Amino acid sequence: MSGIDGSVVLLGQGNANDGRFGVRASRLAELVNFGIPVPATIALSIEAVRMIASGHAPDTEKILDPFGPETLVSVRSSPGGIDWGGAPTFHAVGLNCAIHEELCNAHDPEAASKLYFDFIKSYAVRVARLDPEEFEALTASCPDVFGRLARAKSLYAKCTGESFPQDMGVQLTHVLRSMVRAWEGPTAHLLRSAHGAPENAGLGLLVQKTVVATKSGEGDNGFGAVSGADPESGSRGLFGNFCPGCISVARVEMPESSIKKLSPRSSSDLEKHLDLLRRRKQDELEIDFAVANGKVWVLDARPIDCSVQAAIQIAVDLAESGLISKESSLGRLEPDSIARILHPQVDRSRAYNVIATGISASPGAASGAVAFSSQAAAEYAARNESCILVRIETGPEDIKGMHFASGVLTGRGGITSHAAVVARGLGVPCVAGASDIQFDARMQALISPGGKIFREGDSISIDGTRGEVLEGAVPLEKPGLSDAFRIFLDWADESRDMEVRANADTPDEVQVANSFKADGIGLCRTEHMFFDEARLTVMREMIFADSDSERRATLKQLLPMQRSDFIELFLNMQGRPVCIRLFDPPLHEFLPRERDEIKELADALDLPDSRIIARMDELREFNPMLGMRGVRLGITVPEIYEMQARAIFEALVEARRRGHPGTPEIMIPLVSANREVELVKSSVDAVAHTVRKETGETFDYKIGVIVETPRAAIRAGDLAANSSFLSFGTNDLTQMTYGISRDDSQRFMATYVARGVYPEDPFATLDKEGVGELLLLAAKRGREANPDLVLSICGEHGGDAATIEFCRKAGFNYVSCSPFRVPIARLAAAQSAIRNRSDFRR
Ligand code: PEP
Ligand code: MG
Repeated sequence: MSGIDGSVVLLGQGNANDGRFGVRASRLAELVNFGIPVPATIALSIEAVRMIASGHAPDTEKILDPFGPETLVSVRSSPGGIDWGGAPTFHAVGLNCAIHEELCNAHDPEAASKLYFDFIKSYAVRVARLDPEEFEALTASCPDVFGRLARAKSLYAKCTGESFPQDMGVQLTHVLRSMVRAWEGPTAHLLRSAHGAPENAGLGLLVQKTVVATKSGEGDNGFGAVSGADPESGSRGLFGNFCPGCISVARVEMPESSIKKLSPRSSSDLEKHLDLLRRRKQDELEIDFAVANGKVWVLDARPIDCSVQAAIQIAVDLAESGLISKESSLGRLEPDSIARILHPQVDRSRAYNVIATGISASPGAASGAVAFSSQAAAEYAARNESCILVRIETGPEDIKGMHFASGVLTGRGGITSHAAVVARGLGVPCVAGASDIQFDARMQALISPGGKIFREGDSISIDGTRGEVLEGAVPLEKPGLSDAFRIFLDWADESRDMEVRANADTPDEVQVANSFKADGIGLCRTEHMFFDEARLTVMREMIFADSDSERRATLKQLLPMQRSDFIELFLNMQGRPVCIRLFDPPLHEFLPRERDEIKELADALDLPDSRIIARMDELREFNPMLGMRGVRLGITVPEIYEMQARAIFEALVEARRRGHPGTPEIMIPLVSANREVELVKSSVDAVAHTVRKETGETFDYKIGVIVETPRAAIRAGDLAANSSFLSFGTNDLTQMTYGISRDDSQRFMATYVARGVYPEDPFATLDKEGVGELLLLAAKRGREANPDLVLSICGEHGGDAATIEFCRKAGFNYVSCSPFRVPIARLAAAQSAIRNRSDFRR
């Protein structure tokens, strides 16, 4: 190793921040250059460490030369990339019986003996590879630290056949080799490749002088870790710990101890260092420090590990103090991380027990009693008690229960299943497809893979962010939206050049969308308006109508309900765009499923049970999602779309009378042929004509298509001739392009992703190669046929950052996503615009 030029440098004297020595060396070299006091530190280059790995002996004389005799050192990893790990720091290398005795005489004998014991233990386990449990047992069985130290020395000698090495050079050689060995091990390899490290990722090493106070000196002595901002809130100040003591090793099982124990002088020195770092690094850092006889030394520095809330506050503060641009501050957060502050989360600092896992279908966490039916959920809500609605899968009849529940758990279903879509819309946490948990309908029980049984009323928690089901009611952390959050997102709006709309169907969802400043409604799924109990019955009457006239009569009852929904929607959106999708699901979704529901319906409609069952049989389809739904229903039973069109136009007239003009967008679902658009368009135009005549009002509206079938994408040129807009419904489009049921994909998706069949779940992030190609093809053909064509996406992918980037690059006008993802989409759209702007200033 000694033959390599510049492979071992003293920070401050050689150039250690050119990447050859790893990231920690670069960072510490910068601190030295800034004039911050760092204890003498030798950096070993990645090349030098490779030589140690290949069997060369490290030149310990050369490494130790700058430290002088009887110095203790720490050995730290300096990996080639941030987040690539590396073995933990080795402290107090060089400690032997003679130095231990000196430390006992000069300082606190108990602290010195604990330090020696800890060093022998680390060395025994990590270098000599002795059984860690035997040393743990010593800690447990021997409270007296002096006795423990003596027993550790004997144990070491007994297990290795040699006494503990006393020579600093020998200790250092073996410590360096053990750090290299750990880096080469398969676990370390696996961990760093998960963080994107290449196969030949390199490790540098740092050997740093340990700070030891002198006996006679005055002032603070000890070690700690501090940052210039609160890791929880991001507010500025000195936050961290200080542990008084004479030998400053830093961060070895550092006991909680208040930073207030520091003298004002040391605190002010630390503040100065942190402030300098903040200005020079344009970031809030956390530092490990040591104080000896009142002098503060900085041992290490790293980006502060903080909450999302704090990261936003810090980014805003840095920009407001002029250290970084607004654009740069927006780039400091992963868009998805924002989800964590919009919903309550499991407090991970407390104990919890995961009983099953599923798909993270809607973020946030909730605790409550198990409720196996909507009825039970309603009863819990009436008693003001929180509950988790547990269903094998959900359907329209469960929406009521989902409103009442604090969370939803299903045994089947993926990221775009009914439960997932509705829960995200409501902002209710949901774990879907928890297939390892058994749903025993007969026993009304949930049985965990470990055999634990949960019955109605038993407490469970779900973590929709991680897709976990937890035992009991675990403590949750409340969300909190700060002023900084609002400022941050307002900056995002200044930067973005693409609209972000919300998928919202109910007044509650519209209100959330508004509170998150959505630019409009990109998808109002009108069928969700019929799930209210009173409407469901009328809807069912319509389904059971014997004749067209009977059907028209029931639709007449639904008309005022729809009209009032739309009036509310238009008024709430105050002239901002609203895209209303005509009725989409197959009719049978509105029929009862369970025996007692059939009975109830028969009573309500005054029909025999057999009539209900017969009608259900008539409507039964082998593959309803590919059957009579969407525009197929609209053409076969045209009265439904006619009623909806009338409700939209009458509501529009009323909203305009109340001072809220707007131009509604009417969207046709599940189109596969241009003639479908022509037929619906002429029927809607006719209704508009009638309403204009009846009311004496003029108004505009737009008609467009939700592109959900591959054929619609391919024939986008034809469709665009009759459409003002095409909005890609990528949930169904993904389902139909892959031929994978969006409700059943969870059975194999995890295996498929794990085995690299698909890089990611295509229902979560857009499959750019396949579905994405269809989007690009359709966009091109559509815009060629109609240059004013408005393009957008309204499938669940509309809230995914990578998909947003894709759509922006493809020239889409807007993305639309569930209301709680609107802030995420606003940030992602801004980041995409900034990335692609040439004048971006850091
Ligand atoms: C879609 O298919 O992408 C879509 C938005 O419609 P839904 O999820 O209601 O089927
Ligand atoms: Mg769809």
